[in-house]
Amino acid sequence: MLTLKFGGTSMGSARRILDSVEIMIGRAKSDRISVVVSAVAGISNKLQTAIDGCASGGTAESFVSELRRIHADICAEIKSALPEFSTESVNAKIEPLFSELEKLLAGLTVFGECPDTVHCRIMGMGELICAPIVEAVLLAKKQSVLLLDSRKFIYTTGDQKEGEPDYAHCADAFADYRDGSAPLAQILLFPGFICSWISGTGAKPVMGLLGRNGSDFSAAIVGSCLGSSKVEFWTDVDGIYTADPRVVKDAVLVDDMTYEEAMELSFFGSKVLHPKTLAPLAAKGIEAWSLNSHNPSARGTRIGKGPFENSAKKGPVCGISCLKDCAMISVSGSGMKGRKGMAARIFSAVSNAGISILLITQSSSEYTISFCVRKAFANEVQDVLKSEFSLEISTKLINPIKVQADCAIVSIIGDGMKEKRGVAGTFFDSLASRDVNILAIAQGSSERSISAVIKAEDGDMAVRVVHQFFFNTVQSIQVFAFGAGTIGGTMLDQIGEQQKMLLEQGIDIRVMAIANIDGMIFNAEGISLGDWRDQVKKNGTKTNLDEIINFVKETKPINPIFVDCTASYDLPERYLDIFKAGMSIATPNKRANSMSMDFYKKLRDTANEMHVRFLYETNVGAGLPIIDTLQNLFKSGDKLTGFNGIMSGSLSYIFGKLDEGKKFSEAVLEAKQLRYTEPDPRDDLKGTDVARKALIIARESGMNIELEDIEMRSIFPQGFSLEGSVEEFLAKLPELDSYFEEKMASLRKDKKVLRMGASIKDGKVSVGMLEVGPEDPLFGVRGGENAFVFHTARYTPIPLTVRGYGAGAGVTAAGVFGDILRTVSWNSHS
Ligand code: ADP
Ligand code: ASP
Ligand code: MG
Repeated sequence: MLTLKFGGTSMGSARRILDSVEIMIGRAKSDRISVVVSAVAGISNKLQTAIDGCASGGTAESFVSELRRIHADICAEIKSALPEFSTESVNAKIEPLFSELEKLLAGLTVFGECPDTVHCRIMGMGELICAPIVEAVLLAKKQSVLLLDSRKFIYTTGDQKEGEPDYAHCADAFADYRDGSAPLAQILLFPGFICSWISGTGAKPVMGLLGRNGSDFSAAIVGSCLGSSKVEFWTDVDGIYTADPRVVKDAVLVDDMTYEEAMELSFFGSKVLHPKTLAPLAAKGIEAWSLNSHNPSARGTRIGKGPFENSAKKGPVCGISCLKDCAMISVSGSGMKGRKGMAARIFSAVSNAGISILLITQSSSEYTISFCVRKAFANEVQDVLKSEFSLEISTKLINPIKVQADCAIVSIIGDGMKEKRGVAGTFFDSLASRDVNILAIAQGSSERSISAVIKAEDGDMAVRVVHQFFFNTVQSIQVFAFGAGTIGGTMLDQIGEQQKMLLEQGIDIRVMAIANIDGMIFNAEGISLGDWRDQVKKNGTKTNLDEIINFVKETKPINPIFVDCTASYDLPERYLDIFKAGMSIATPNKRANSMSMDFYKKLRDTANEMHVRFLYETNVGAGLPIIDTLQNLFKSGDKLTGFNGIMSGSLSYIFGKLDEGKKFSEAVLEAKQLRYTEPDPRDDLKGTDVARKALIIARESGMNIELEDIEMRSIFPQGFSLEGSVEEFLAKLPELDSYFEEKMASLRKDKKVLRMGASIKDGKVSVGMLEVGPEDPLFGVRGGENAFVFHTARYTPIPLTVRGYGAGAGVTAAGVFGDILRTVSWNSHS
C-alpha cells in the first residue's frame, strides 16, 4: 500500500485535477494506493471568509453561488477534456452539500456566531465537494476506486478544530481495509482535513477537523493506519527547499531530510507540511516524499530516518523557517528571582487554558521569563496570567504582564548543528548585518534548532539574509540609481554588460530604479538594461526619492544600494534618511564628504548603526584606488606624515604644457577645447575642486578639518581680476603669460617644473602651485594624469605613489561599479 496526498495546489483547476489523477493511475498500476485530497485551492479560505462574514451579519447567497460556479466551471472543463466524466453523478453528490452550506451559513447570519461543530461542518465542505469530482474522473478513466468518508476512519479528541488522533480507535476503523477483508478497490479515496471528534468518554462523535493545512496530517494518519510503505505529498514545488521559495528566490532544494529536521521545520512555520504530519510516520519508519504534481519527473525530497547516502556532504543547517503571527509574553519582576515554581505556575496556567507555547526563553538573571504563543491567543494568555499572579502583581513583586504582539520566530534547523561550532554566531551575525532587532533567543532542547524572536515586519527579510549567510548561493545587490547622465549612464551600461557574467559568478545585480532628468522608472523585479534610456523617456514618472525610501522600508530587499551619480547639491543632505531606510550608498558626488565635519561624522555613525556601507572611492582620483588604499593603511596602524597630489586632470594638462614651453593662455585654451576643463576654466584654476578632494583625503587620514581651514594659494598674480564672463576672462588670459614664463625661467635653472595641486604638511592642508624637482614623483605627471603621493610612517623615505587617469566617464563609472560590488564580498560567508 502506498498513500498519496494531493493538496489544494494539485486540485486548483480542471487541468491540475486531470494531471494529478494521471499520477494516481501511474502509481496504482503497481501498488494498491490510498489517496487523500484537499479542497480546491483557495476554497477553504473562502469558507472561512464566509463564516466570518455571515457571523457578523452578512448573507450567504453570493458566497455559495461563487463556490457553485467555481466547481461547475471545473466540472465543465473536465467534461470537455474527458467526455466519459459524469457531471450528473458528481452533481448528485455535491448539490446537497451546497444546499446544506446555504442553510448553515444562513443560520450564522441569524445567530451572529459560529459554534465549533458548525464551523467544522462548513470548513470541511471544500474537501467533501472536491473528493467526488476526483472520484468521477477516476471512474471515467475506468479505475477501480472507492470513495470513503474519512469521518468513519479518523477519530480525534482534544480540540475539535485541531484534534489529536486517537490512534487505537483509528486503527480499528481501518482494520478491514488493512487486512483486505473489506471490499477491495485498487484506489481508496479519502477527503482530507475532516474527521470525527469525540468530546469525552462515551460522547457521540461529531464532525471535527485536523487544523488548517490538515490534509497532510490526514494522509499521515491514513498511511500509518493502513500500513503503507511510503506516503507521497504532492504539491506545487519540487520538494522541500532550504527556505520558502516564495520568499527566497534562490532557495536550494534539499534531497533528503530526517524526520526530526522536517518536523522542526514545519513546527517553526514552514508551510510545506502540516506540523503534526511527520510524527506518526516517524513512529513507524514510513518514508515520506515531498513531490511536485506540476513536475512529476522531479526527484522530490525524501524524509526518513537517515543517515542518507550523501548525508556527509550536508551542511550544519538544512532549512530556515519563519513563523509569523506570534506574540511574545514576558513575565518579570523581583519576585521571579530565586523563587521555585514560578515557571511551572506560568506554564500550567497557559496550558490549562488549552493554549500551546511555541518557544520559551529565560533571562540568565532569572528576572524574566518570556515565551511565544500564536498572536490570536495573546490576550487570553495575558488574562490568564493576570489572574494567576494577581496577588504578586498587586504587591509589585511581579510587573504587569507584557505582551509584544506582531512577532515572528525565525529558526534555523539542522541535525548537524550539534557538531559544528559557530552556527549560532553566524545566525546572529546575519541578523545583525541587516539591523534586525532580536527580542529573544531560544535553542531547541535537541540542539537541532535555534530560534530568534523578531518583529513580524522583519520576518521575510530576516529569512533572506540568514539564507544568504548559510547557503551563500547567489548574493544579490539591488541598485537604485539617481543621476543617469554621463557617469551614471555609463555605469548602467557597464552593469548591463556584466550582469550575466556576474550571475554566473554568483552575484545577482539588479537595477530597481533609475532616475535622470527625464524622470524615474521603477521595477521591483529589476529593470532590463538593454534599453533603459528609452524606458525612462517613455515611462518615466516624476523623480521621487521618498518613493524609493518607502519601497525599501516596506519590501526590505537584502542588499539595497543607492547610487548618487548626480552633481546635486541637495541630495547629499538626504543621505542620512537613505541610510536609515537600510540602504548603502555609493557615489562619486563629493558634496556629502566636503560638508561640515559634524555631518561627515554623522554620515559614518548612521551607516555603522544601520550596518550599511558608505562608498565613495571615486570622490578623489576617479577610478584610482585612493580611498580604499588609505583606509587600509590607517586601519592597519600607519600614519600620514605628508601628502602631495595632482588631483585635477585639467590642471595636470595645463601645467604639463608649460614644461614644453607653451604659453599659459594657449595651454588653458587647448585644455578647454579638448573639454578637459569645466565650461568655465576658472572653476578648475581657482582650485576649489582640488580643495574638496584634499579635504576628503585629509579627513580620511584622521584630520578634523573644515573646508575653510584649507589654505588657498591663488595661482593668479595679485591684482588680477577674476570677474566677468568666460569670454572676458579668456580674452584677458594672455596678460598672465609673461608672469608664468618668468616663473618657469627661474625654475628651469634648477631643473624644476611647476605643478598645481594640494599638499598636507604638519597638520595643514593647502592648495596652490608646487615647485617640483626631478626627484619628486610629481615631476613627470602631466597630460591629464593624476598622481597621489603619500608619505607615511611606513612608506618612508620612498612615498607610496598612485598614478593614472583621474577623470573620465569610463573610469569613474567603473569606480562606482566597483564600490557597488564591494557590498557583496563584505557580507559573504562562504
Ligand atoms: P498544498 O496545497 O499542496 O498543501 P501548500 O500551499 O499548503 O500546498 O504548501 C506548499 C507551499 O509551501 C509551497 O508552494 C511553498 O511556497 C511553501 N513552502 C514554505 N516553506 C517551504 C519550504 N521550505 N520548501 C518548500 N515549500 C515551502
Ligand atoms: N483545505 C484545508 C486547508 O486549506 C486543508 C489542506 O489543504 O490541507 O486548510
Ligand atoms: Mg498544505
